[in-house]
Amino acid sequence: MPRGESENGRDDMLIDGCEPEQPRGNSVPDGFNTNYLKVYYGKLFPHHDIFKWMSYGNDGKHPACDRSYFGQREFSFTLDNDIYLRFQSFNSASELENSINEKCPVKIDIGPVYNVDPAKRHAYAQAGDNGFAPVERELIFDVDITDYDDVRYCCSGADVCLDCWPLMTVAVKVIDTTLRDDFGFNHVLWVYSGRRGVHCWVCDEKARRLNNEQRAAIADYFRGNENSHKKVSLTGHALHPFLARSYTEVLKGFFEEKLLSSQNLFSNEERFEKILEMIPDESITSELRGKWQESRRSSISKEDINVVRWGQLKQMLQSGKQKGQGLRRCVEEIVFSYAYPRLDMEVSKHMNHLLKAPFCIHPKTGRVCIPIDPNHCEEFDPTTVPTLSKLLGELNMGGVKADGGDEWDKTSLGKSVRYFRSSFLQPLLKSCKEKIESSYSAKLQESKNSLSW
Ligand SMILES: [Zn+2]
Repeated sequence: MPRGESENGRDDMLIDGCEPEQPRGNSVPDGFNTNYLKVYYGKLFPHHDIFKWMSYGNDGKHPACDRSYFGQREFSFTLDNDIYLRFQSFNSASELENSINEKCPVKIDIGPVYNVDPAKRHAYAQAGDNGFAPVERELIFDVDITDYDDVRYCCSGADVCLDCWPLMTVAVKVIDTTLRDDFGFNHVLWVYSGRRGVHCWVCDEKARRLNNEQRAAIADYFRGNENSHKKVSLTGHALHPFLARSYTEVLKGFFEEKLLSSQNLFSNEERFEKILEMIPDESITSELRGKWQESRRSSISKEDINVVRWGQLKQMLQSGKQKGQGLRRCVEEIVFSYAYPRLDMEVSKHMNHLLKAPFCIHPKTGRVCIPIDPNHCEEFDPTTVPTLSKLLGELNMGGVKADGGDEWDKTSLGKSVRYFRSSFLQPLLKSCKEKIESSYSAKLQESKNSLSW
């Protein structure tokens, strides 16, 4: 990379107020390297917001603040040379910022809060109940599109396009609704993983304090049934209300209006056979198969063949002739197996699992791991997420703001940082401060009462 480009040395030549949308003269060649990253961490990465978040209100002057709280959180850095630094801890925002700027990690992961400062864990290494152990951790979810490879035909592996990305959108909708409506969580952050999936951070205090068993129970709730080799199990007489709601509110519409055609689920024999395999009635499957092999030879219909065939299948399974609940359930089963969220359960089950910090840059795509608004997740387009080089180009264009405002505000990262603050961080910190305040006054009251004895 031409060295000077990332140094932002042209600021003084630029006129304030230039449109950052047209970076022509200041564009920065695509890429991901230490020089770019240094500029990113130095000028754009929202260190202070990460510190505020991870402090959960414990960075204030209130007498009930736990000032050691932030320092007991594990951060881990992956360096350029694949060196992996675990159990990093920091006592202040500036310590965190200085370390990130100095080490310039290609990836920053966030781990749990431990009972002691993780950097000094060896001092507490004696076995037993008082050893080194995690005490708090956000409830996290990781959804990766590579887990959908058997139901998407447009891409495979790490590739993702606008035909398969909606599978992630559906996962966000189903999981987000459930976390809020069924579990009563309020502080839920969704983040684009930078390449092929999404991460979810549930940050309510009661979520952070879940033990591993409780986390596993929540993960199983999402699976529908614990011991199943299927992606989701629908055994039982009636659908669990959560699955029924996911089906009617999200999955059915998505499957019929989008997935069916965008993935051409019935377009050839191999694909429709995969669906017929899910129907346990030989007479129905052979009738459908016959129809579809026939129509392939004489198809003149202008209608989408996937939609037509799905309609035929539904009619067969749901007609009055079919008495068995099981066959009617087949329609739902097919929709679930194609569209239902596929979670990496292990990530959610253990407190000490690490997860990449928001606003990191994905080294392969160069894209920023920006938050996703679950209320508008269908508008999220992974192909337009700002890249490191785009941001540096915008920074070059932006010039020095007269009011000395934040650098990120001059770039297309601004929207994401503002969303992070207004929709996630501010409401979270407000509730944390209320909690700290109320537990403090409860304690005061308690000690008053005990004095009055
Ligand atoms: Zn695709």
